[in-house]
Amino acid sequence: MEKLIYPENLRHSDIICFFTEKNFDLIKLRKQYEIYMPIQRHTDNVIVLSKNTTPQVADAVITDKKGILIGVKVADCLPILLYDPVRKVIAAVHAGWRSTAKGILKKTLIKMLEIFNCKVSNIIIAMGPYIKGCCYEVGHEVIEALNRETPSLEYVINLNGKKHVDLAIANRIQSLSIGINTENIWISPDCTYCNHLHYASYRFHGKEAGRQYGIIGML
Ligand SMILES: [Zn+2]
Repeated sequence: MEKLIYPENLRHSDIICFFTEKNFDLIKLRKQYEIYMPIQRHTDNVIVLSKNTTPQVADAVITDKKGILIGVKVADCLPILLYDPVRKVIAAVHAGWRSTAKGILKKTLIKMLEIFNCKVSNIIIAMGPYIKGCCYEVGHEVIEALNRETPSLEYVINLNGKKHVDLAIANRIQSLSIGINTENIWISPDCTYCNHLHYASYRFHGKEAGRQYGIIGML
C-alpha cells in the first residue's frame, strides 16, 4: 500500500500537500491533476510558474496558480514544500547539497517576498523525508560549500571520526536567517537511508533507486 505523508503544519483545507514513499503512482495522479515538475539539475534556478507550463531546468518552483500541482522528485535529497495561506502562494524545492550550498531555499523565499508580497511570518515550510545526519557522510568540500551560504556548524555531525551533514538543519538555518518563524517549520523524522524499504535512497540503492515526491497544489 502506498502511504502518503501529510506534514502536520500544512493540513489546510484549500491545499493538497503531501510527500510520498517510493513506488508512488504519479501517472495515476496525472490523470486527476495537471502536475508541473521542473527538470532538476541541482541548480539554484527558481521558476515562477505562470501560463507556460513547459518544464524548464530548475530546482524550485513558485506559483499562485490554482488547479495545478507542483512538485519535486527525490531519492535522499531534501524535498521542501512551502505555503503562504494569506497571499495564496505555494512553492516546491529540491534541495540536495549542491542546491542547498547555492542557497536555493533562501532564493525561493526571497522571490516569494519580492514577487508575491508574501510576509515571512506567514510562510509555512515542510521538509519531507531525506537522508539525515545519521547516514549522510560527506567530504570536506561539501561542508566548505555549504558553509559559504550557511555559515554554521550546527548541521555538521561527527560520527566515528567521519563528517556527516544534515541538510534540513542547513535549510532551516537559511529560513530562519530571513525571518521565518521556527514554529512554522516542520521536518520529517524519516531518514531515507535508514528506511530504504519505504523510500528511494540513492546512497543505498544506487542508480536503481527510483524516486519519491513532494507535491503541493491549491484547489
Ligand atoms: Zn539514517
